[in-house]
Amino acid sequence: MREKQLLMIPGPTPVAQPVLRACSKPMINHRGPEFAELQDECNRGLAAAFKTTDDILTLTCSGTGAMEAAVVNTLSPGDKVLCLVIGAFGDRFAQIAKTFGAQVERMDFEWGQAVDERKLAARLKQDSAREIKAVLVTHNETSTGVTNDLAAIAAVVREHGALILVDAVSSLVAMDLRADEWGLDVVAAASQKAFMLPPGLAFVSMSARAWDANTTAKMHRYYFDLQKAKEFMDKKQTPWTPALPQMYGLQEGLRLIEEEGLENCFARHRRLGSAVRAACAAMGLKLFADPAHASNAVTAILAPEGTTPKQIRSLLLDKYGVVLAEGQGKLKDTVFRIGHLGYVNETDIMTTLAALGAGLHQLGPKVDLGAALDAAHRELTATSGAQT
Ligand SMILES: *Cc1c(COP(=O)(O)O)cnc(C)c1O
Repeated sequence: MREKQLLMIPGPTPVAQPVLRACSKPMINHRGPEFAELQDECNRGLAAAFKTTDDILTLTCSGTGAMEAAVVNTLSPGDKVLCLVIGAFGDRFAQIAKTFGAQVERMDFEWGQAVDERKLAARLKQDSAREIKAVLVTHNETSTGVTNDLAAIAAVVREHGALILVDAVSSLVAMDLRADEWGLDVVAAASQKAFMLPPGLAFVSMSARAWDANTTAKMHRYYFDLQKAKEFMDKKQTPWTPALPQMYGLQEGLRLIEEEGLENCFARHRRLGSAVRAACAAMGLKLFADPAHASNAVTAILAPEGTTPKQIRSLLLDKYGVVLAEGQGKLKDTVFRIGHLGYVNETDIMTTLAALGAGLHQLGPKVDLGAALDAAHRELTATSGAQT
């Protein structure tokens, strides 16, 4: 039964049956009345997820497209931007800004650590001439399993006055993000992570400040022109043909999220994240992330002595059909990652941990599987009160 797999990677994530069914609906005229209704309902659901009254544009592309849209719609070549980099995705955001001609200043933090807001505050304080136009930051760094304190970072940036552009691709819906309350200017997200949808859609919110910057922003753009996207959204259309199957999936996915309740959804991710971390500790596994900033969406685990991440991932795939992610960039030969976001539940987590413990045992390291599952179970039940 090779086809039966448990997909435990940080995107694409498993998709629920009702969403898959919704994706197979017949096509409609994307300039007709049914599309207007579909878009309106999706926009209401997205507004709830982003916790904003700002415009949210839906784009047909992956998350990187939304990151690019964030940059090119608010900045001009030569603009100075400060990129907070704590891993591979922060690096990507900086690359995009550089590619389109921004003058990029990087603030690198050791991989595994979160952004230190005090260092950020100190740097922004130096900028008395207000040369820094925007701060680019990753909410949840998927490559290292670290979540930044976005509320604190945003507060520091707000004080300075620069725009804050946020990559929330692997955080939105998995953990709290309050675009309005925190004063986030542009937030980029995508369908294939915690939204539990197939890949193919990305979402970008634009604050009033961001639209203001847009009026003078000169970076090249055509497909990702958000001004155009907004014009068409106001006519209840999109400038280009949208990915209709994914839009139907989005409508259903947002209904599922509403049914669970956003706060319950966060609580589920907290439970799953802490269960994975507790089981790893009980198995003697070392986690890559600073425990104070451990992500509830993804965990990066160091391969124990005498094993390689590749060996572990291959064995789990071949023997148990459990799919884990490899390390990104410089972590390729050091870590493997478990994605625990989206349409993932307690059963998936227990199964994954059992397969991991049994797999490691076969590769050499002596692990106490019983203790690991016990620890996971304790975390899964201890905080379950938040769910209705
Ligand atoms: C997945 C991801 C992206 C986007 O990747 P795509 O493959 O373009 O969808 C961006 N940022 C983070 C933090 C991610 O996890």
